Amino acid sequence: MILLTRKAEFSSAHYYWNDDLSAEENQRLFGKCANRNGHGHNYTLEVTVAGEIDPVTGFVVDLKQLKEILEREVVSVYDHRHLNLEVPEFRVAIPTTENIAIAIWRRLAGKIPNAQLYRVRVFEAPDLFADFYGEFESPAQDGPGTRPEAQFGVGN
Ligand SMILES: [Zn+2]
Repeated sequence: MILLTRKAEFSSAHYYWNDDLSAEENQRLFGKCANRNGHGHNYTLEVTVAGEIDPVTGFVVDLKQLKEILEREVVSVYDHRHLNLEVPEFRVAIPTTENIAIAIWRRLAGKIPNAQLYRVRVFEAPDLFADFYGEFESPAQDGPGTRPEAQFGVGN
């Protein structure tokens, strides 16, 4: 087995807010990030897949196809969007780096032919990133969006 990582970038706006908490509590927990007009980040996504090398091509996956999958499933949905307002999974889940990594895993699970999704790493900034390895997820064939939104944690 060998691991292969592909990077992609997207720029998105977000804010942190938990409707179950009072305005004061949100302010205390999230500070400036609770400003509901939002603010932006240039995110870097690293998707790592695991698989066996095809003896004919020397590849684990078709790189062009992998790039297209990342573009279709993630970048085209998140890039230049306000995550809280325009991306369905963040109407409930707070779009922290942690929850974005989980959401991207769910968007990609079962979509990459001939390889297993191994890790989703999301950088919110060069000095901050979250990793998700799919722990506690049901098998990939369930696909994204089949898990209750409540499964998302409240990030920081
Ligand atoms: Zn932020």
